[in-house]
Amino acid sequence: MFKNLHQLIATMPDDKTCRDYLGKERWNGVPVCPYCGCDKCYVIENGKRFKCGSKECYKKFSVTVRTIFEASNIPLNEWFMALYILTAHKKGISSGYFGT
Ligand SMILES: [Zn+2]
Repeated sequence: MFKNLHQLIATMPDDKTCRDYLGKERWNGVPVCPYCGCDKCYVIENGKRFKCGSKECYKKFSVTVRTIFEASNIPLNEWFMALYILTAHKKGISSGYFGT
């Protein structure tokens, strides 16, 4: 996905850019209510969260609902960085990165 950590940070410098990215990956840019599947949702809280447009449901949700990111208060860009380092680390070991 990214060539190096620097590129990741340059592409997603903050929580918002990461949320936008997740929204595109997850919903193709159109938020879908995770509770009822309604795709007519409103953007609230400056794009940080959404509100379901269905009158029976009308729940609020964010792009991280039902993902590993949901339960944490860590900004998404820090999550992305950590995940990147973890995966890069794995690759590094298998290719003898540490000179073994
Ligand atoms: Zn809904």
